[in-house]
Amino acid sequence: MTAHARLSPSGADRWSTCTASVALLDRLRGNGTIPERDSSEWASEGTVAHEVREICLDFGLDPHHFVGAVISADGFTYTVDESMADHLQTGIDWVREHTGTPHVEIRVDLSPWLPGQFGTCDTGWIEGDVLPISDLKYGAGEQVDAIGNKQLRLYALGYWHYAGRPAVKSVLMNIDQPRAGGMKYWEITLEDLLAFGEEMKLVYAKIMSGDVEFKPSTKACRWCEVRKAPGGCAARNQWLDQMAEDRKNPVGLSPERRWYIVQHASEIRAWLAELHEESLRAALDGNPDPGSKAVAGDLGDRYFTDAKKAEALLTAALGVDAYKPRQLIGITEIEKQVKPGKRKQGHPETWAELLTLVDRAEGKPKLVPADHLKPALKPFADQFDDL
Ligand code: SF4
Repeated sequence: MTAHARLSPSGADRWSTCTASVALLDRLRGNGTIPERDSSEWASEGTVAHEVREICLDFGLDPHHFVGAVISADGFTYTVDESMADHLQTGIDWVREHTGTPHVEIRVDLSPWLPGQFGTCDTGWIEGDVLPISDLKYGAGEQVDAIGNKQLRLYALGYWHYAGRPAVKSVLMNIDQPRAGGMKYWEITLEDLLAFGEEMKLVYAKIMSGDVEFKPSTKACRWCEVRKAPGGCAARNQWLDQMAEDRKNPVGLSPERRWYIVQHASEIRAWLAELHEESLRAALDGNPDPGSKAVAGDLGDRYFTDAKKAEALLTAALGVDAYKPRQLIGITEIEKQVKPGKRKQGHPETWAELLTLVDRAEGKPKLVPADHLKPALKPFADQFDDL
């Protein structure tokens, strides 16, 4: 059994815990049960963003030099706009504050820990006794944390190996996710990074020897393609089913089990959406689940087939009342138009004054794991005591 290019850093949350998924994916791909991955427009947008960032860092350019450039990637064509340039600038500036000679988009060999495996490290350099790496994530859908990130640690291991195994003290990992959470950092000692490498060696040995297990979890299953197989993944279905089953008996639910289920709520919701989709597909294919049928949905929102003609008729009848009241643009849009930048004059005085007027509402309490960096909120009773 070989694992060539199967244990990719981007899939580490899956294969390092749900070790049985590796062979199952091989089988399902091999017999055509899971289709080959299609490229998508959003993925190609990410590829273009990486290309622009790479050229900027290699040749000392700024992303704004590329505005209007038409770049093709993965079968799609994308025109670089101001928004992409703005999004890329912060991460590029951060790298430049630290080094003028980063290694960019380099293939790193992970063989010392995962024989035959490799990855692409977006950016890495050595700065005194620190080894920083930076990973661009252009997606806007889901925030990716730097802390505890296995993909980043694998890139860091690969880059440390690529850089000749320097005797640095620590490794600074950065996720540059301009459209979801911005710049995120995690610094660990080289010792801790190498200990993680040892863990990965053990995982590899288990996968190679067949000593594997299915271990569903939100992180492992999130992008696992076994979910796309007809009927989904049996191990994951059983795991979710058990949580739904537990919910039937809330009195007997321990606080630990309740928190476990709450932590996996998004997975349960995704599963229900998948079931709904499958059930609808079966009905549309003429094989409805017993007791169900597909019918036409409610009509969509009304719209004018000729918007210009409708506007002319309305303004003739109502004058200015034909329009909605004017509304201020949002703060994000104001930031784009008013905040001065490297290549944008903006309105510095207005921006400075506006900043004195900006405030944020308190966030609603939310549940996070106990080891989260934020301090726990005080119970209400203690807050009254303080008063
Ligand atoms: S869907 Fe989840 S449990 Fe099933 S193989 Fe993939 S990672 Fe493992």
